[in-house]
Amino acid sequence: MPATAQPSPSAAAPGASSSPDAATGANSSPDASTGASSSAETSSATTFAAANCPGCGEPLRGRVLLSSHDRLMGGPGDFAVLACRACGLASTQPRLRPEQFADYYPQVYYPERAERLSFAERLRLEWIVRLGPYRRLSRLRPGRMLDVGCGSGALLSTFAGHGWSVAGVEPSVEAAARARAAGIEMHNGTLDDAPWQGPTFDAIVFNHSLEHIPDPVASLRQAAALLREGGTLAVAVPNFDCWQRRLFGARWFQLDLPRHLQHMQTHTLAGLFERAGLRPVARTTVSMRPALLLSLQYAAFGRVRWNGRGLRLAAWAMAPLLWALDRFADGDCLHMFAVRRED
Ligand SMILES: [Zn+2]
Repeated sequence: MPATAQPSPSAAAPGASSSPDAATGANSSPDASTGASSSAETSSATTFAAANCPGCGEPLRGRVLLSSHDRLMGGPGDFAVLACRACGLASTQPRLRPEQFADYYPQVYYPERAERLSFAERLRLEWIVRLGPYRRLSRLRPGRMLDVGCGSGALLSTFAGHGWSVAGVEPSVEAAARARAAGIEMHNGTLDDAPWQGPTFDAIVFNHSLEHIPDPVASLRQAAALLREGGTLAVAVPNFDCWQRRLFGARWFQLDLPRHLQHMQTHTLAGLFERAGLRPVARTTVSMRPALLLSLQYAAFGRVRWNGRGLRLAAWAMAPLLWALDRFADGDCLHMFAVRRED
């Protein structure tokens, strides 16, 4: 499930620009020390207040770092991000009920079509795989690869072009159908009901999907069980500990409440790995091209008003600047690699 959603202007929330939560960093948020008990009042037909942290399972008590509504799709409700006192993982409260996920993931959330990618998109994916954050996987001898939350399979198609035998898991019926149309072996569902048993894959990827999964530790544990000996797990998530999040606060595009259920940074993702029986072996960050321009629109208008080809061209033009910034500070996408712990 890519975070590179390309929202249409009509998808934005009417009146969102009147929201009072201006671009503030998490540390300057005034509403501190609110636990899960206060969020229980906001439980509804679409959401519920989680009693326990999705990372460590301890009762969820923590500081509210920031709060926002659904800026991308204009869905109902207000949501807070809490940092767990026990493990530090930031998570969204209240949380979407799983049966409501489809209503909050419209088609605009799956912008790429693996069966007919543009030249520019192919170029971007080739860069990601050969020279960018996934180059660590490209250096492995191609084997069997699984992408959990693969969307319409654009990343898998690229790896297939490099000799990998690929398979995907995707809960969206439409996105899974697109991936299947691109010739990818697909399971339309989740890891809970996936058909594979035991060590099957040499590489397993969660490309901007772990932040959407209600029980991330359980999914990572399932993935660890599917890894062959010496296999590599690769996770990419929005980096909660980046300058863009600190600058834009609740108007950081990659926050994407309420679809992002947890908000990770290096040590909290490493904690999830630890509890799932995985050992981190490498980490890198990179900035996602259009995200800065989208965050600027959230800061200026409260919603996305400018999108489409113009935005994509501007984002490409800004690529050298983002590349230079990434030399000095962590980018807004965190990539971590792990292997199964054998102790
Ligand atoms: Zn916790």
